[in-house]
Amino acid sequence: MRVLLIEDEPRLGQAVQEHVTDGGHAVDRVLRLDDADAALRAVDYGLILLDLHLPDGSGLDFLRALRRRGDTSPVIILTARDQIRDRIDGLNAGADDYLVKPFDLDELRARVAAVARRYAGNPSPIQRFGEIEIDQASRQLSRDGKRIELTGREWAILDQLLRRPNSLVSKEQIEEALYPFGAEIESNTIEVHVSRLRKKLGRDFVVTVRGVGYRLGQA
Ligand code: CA
Repeated sequence: MRVLLIEDEPRLGQAVQEHVTDGGHAVDRVLRLDDADAALRAVDYGLILLDLHLPDGSGLDFLRALRRRGDTSPVIILTARDQIRDRIDGLNAGADDYLVKPFDLDELRARVAAVARRYAGNPSPIQRFGEIEIDQASRQLSRDGKRIELTGREWAILDQLLRRPNSLVSKEQIEEALYPFGAEIESNTIEVHVSRLRKKLGRDFVVTVRGVGYRLGQA
């Protein structure tokens, strides 16, 4: 899932970016609301993490404007411990959830995973495809009852395929979900990750439609 992080505090922003990236998501981090607006015009984000006090304005006003123009992207606001009013106002302005600073990074990861599941249209964490069992929430996967480890990138590709289990996902859609702005992407990177996924999950698990994209083979 592609995530937009709007946070001007350098250390917190960097920690959140690294942690969410480790969870297999592509994070674009901006420090200002005008940069956030530009990013939102270019990319369809699965989640927005929003600080409320930014150098060029209020995150609450930003959120209200977002909802006013009909944007339903999931938003988690990042608020300070003593600002209870911010949390209430944030939820009233259309936030889906909030995290209170300083927050535990594992809690952040769990909340991001919960949003990712809703984004995938699948609030139940466990899915089965033949001998494969996938728990997107705890990032656990087994084949014939045996645990299989996936890398962050492999999870990110799987998330995209699970999001549209009955349709084709283009290479560009996968790249957009996997890589933030400015990332260098080798032309065969996605193929390499997909072929590793096939090795782990079975040749037929992911079907390549040449020149078009990928889909789940067993959905
Ligand atoms: Ca701030």
